[in-house]
Amino acid sequence: YDALERTDPELAAAIGDELHRQRTYLQLIASENFTTPEVLAAQGSVLTNKYAEGYPGRRYYGGCEHVDVAEELARDRLTALFGAEHANVQPHSGAQANMAAFTALGLEHGDTLMAMSLDHGGHLTHGAKVNFSGKWYEIAAYGVDPASEQIDYDEVRRLAREHRPKVILTGYTAYPRAIDFAAFREIADEVGAKLHVDAAHFCGLVAGGAHPDPVPYADMVTFTTHKTMRGPRGGAILCGQEYAKAVDKAVFPFLQGGPQMHSIAAKAVAFKQAAQPEFRDYAHQVVTNARALAEALEGHGVRIVAGGTDIHYLLADVSAVGEDDNGVEITGKVAEQRLDQAGITLNKNAIPFDPKPPMVASGVRVGVPSVTTQGMQTAEMREIATLIARVLQDEGEVGAVREEVTKLTGRFPVYV
Ligand code: PLP
Repeated sequence: YDALERTDPELAAAIGDELHRQRTYLQLIASENFTTPEVLAAQGSVLTNKYAEGYPGRRYYGGCEHVDVAEELARDRLTALFGAEHANVQPHSGAQANMAAFTALGLEHGDTLMAMSLDHGGHLTHGAKVNFSGKWYEIAAYGVDPASEQIDYDEVRRLAREHRPKVILTGYTAYPRAIDFAAFREIADEVGAKLHVDAAHFCGLVAGGAHPDPVPYADMVTFTTHKTMRGPRGGAILCGQEYAKAVDKAVFPFLQGGPQMHSIAAKAVAFKQAAQPEFRDYAHQVVTNARALAEALEGHGVRIVAGGTDIHYLLADVSAVGEDDNGVEITGKVAEQRLDQAGITLNKNAIPFDPKPPMVASGVRVGVPSVTTQGMQTAEMREIATLIARVLQDEGEVGAVREEVTKLTGRFPVYV
């Protein structure tokens, strides 16, 4: 970093400013975390220099003996962590892991994929029209029940019987409740579909024993390594031996070229860390914190979508606040912008059956993986809820709340 500061001060300044932002703002984006210095060390290592197309022991380049060790460690640690038969740790991202999984499950152009719609909490890769998934596959979309805002398994069964999908996908971006994987397995079996669980968000909670485990039920589990798993940015796939070859071929050479060996090494570090007892404590504290924050926000007049949370984020319907003290209507967009000025970073989010367009939205998604990594607990969650409520109620509070945020984050320093 010293060399970078000397030779490329503009870029070094951008990194320094980002570090300052991460240290002094409250990081409440559900898909983010503070990865560890060990993960950063592996990610920033000379392994970035190495080409290694192929898999350990079967590479298209020489000199792969050391990166083979890194990839084998990543694969072995990951299969042990989840009790899975096979792992592929090469996907560059969660989106690519999903694309590879669909391919390995035999989905071809025109086949039917059943998944939750984007506006009820699904991800772009789950069939959104602008994404390859929505362009290549017939999408049988399911949503949540209008009253409970939770998955209605009878309705999922009815739709599966009607559409006879080749693959049923569960696991979401903005659905805050635990998923009944056994129910999905039963539905998939009844209609002869494969079951794919996209555990991008909650995989770290599963690893830490704080969330039901999809591996015994799913044909394919994909996830990202940078969210609750707290590793480097990237993706991974778990499957049974029967899909091992198809998955490996789908990732390389079908979808990707050379694997990013520095990222794979960093994934290996993260998987080892996720197997430690401290990570179990972390995962449980994440869920406790999310529930405490939801409860405290509810106490301030914010409506919690789906009646609560079982994971690391909550979906808050801020339109329930109505107008602030100056008669301004509170929307997701207003909340995101105003909170950002106050040093609280999160994202606006549509709520199910949202009457507002997505760029305005009625809700915000509030995640606690980062603040929990910092060491915050339920007392701080109540503090954060009060800070959020003050800003939503009165824009005049932005300056004072910014000062409180600086003090709070100063009590929980990162990367010191
Ligand atoms: N799947 C789900 C459920 C996600 O929430 C995300 C990202 O937020 C992804 C896949 C894609 O991950 P990436 O951004 O690494 O491509």
